[in-house]
Amino acid sequence: MLQRRPLFPGVIEMNHQAGWRIGCNVYLVHDERQWLLVDVGYEETVDEIVEMIRQLDFPLSACSGLVATHADVDHIQGFAKARSILKAPVIAHRAAVETLESGDRVRTFAEIAAQNVHLPMPPVKVDTTVDDGDTITLGTRTLEVWHTPGHTDSQLALRLGDLLLSGDNIFRDGSVGAIDAHHGSDIEAFIRSLERIAGSDVAWLLPSHGPIFRKDDRLLAATIARLRGYLRLADFGTCATQWPLLDEWDRELAEWQAP
Ligand SMILES: [Zn+2]
Repeated sequence: MLQRRPLFPGVIEMNHQAGWRIGCNVYLVHDERQWLLVDVGYEETVDEIVEMIRQLDFPLSACSGLVATHADVDHIQGFAKARSILKAPVIAHRAAVETLESGDRVRTFAEIAAQNVHLPMPPVKVDTTVDDGDTITLGTRTLEVWHTPGHTDSQLALRLGDLLLSGDNIFRDGSVGAIDAHHGSDIEAFIRSLERIAGSDVAWLLPSHGPIFRKDDRLLAATIARLRGYLRLADFGTCATQWPLLDEWDRELAEWQAP
């Protein structure tokens, strides 16, 4: 048996529990009897995580769900395997359904040919879709679903009291989940999602990568300002909404005269 190392009452994170970095953050939320996982990570670490859960004295039959925060391979490659071991429903935003059920290797970043990344992406059935404002009830605990698109179009955050399981919206160093058109990034939506987090009264952010941290309004403001800049720069290609340099150049081209 393992001694439980909860972050907060009813919340265990498997990397923190293990004491080493297994992969993306995998949150186990539980009440007295039931539990669910928020993200699962890569397929090759599923057995290790399930064994830890067993040793933490959670009956495997009491798993009430596997929530995908979004459909990127590092969060969801292990879902098909975990679903078959735990016999629990997969829960995701509807924007993630097609990607998960087809095992889309480009949208999940399992296939990045130019970087020689060629990962398997086992398709997995989504049993339940959730959208903003829905709740996921776990005995006495209730998770409030936030749809926070930006990093991907399917990105979810889950509020539990004054905790926000915040997905890839923002990390402790102020960085954000990768902005890339291939998995549906939308910088304007990202800014709105960050503004929503900033304007909320949550106290703690529990991100999907790296350490948890107190909600920090200055960090959020700086991150939002940085993303606003990206809207008008070429840095993220088609994710920008305008590129003022080209307007300037249009004027200069029209006005150019031989010296
Ligand atoms: Zn991620």
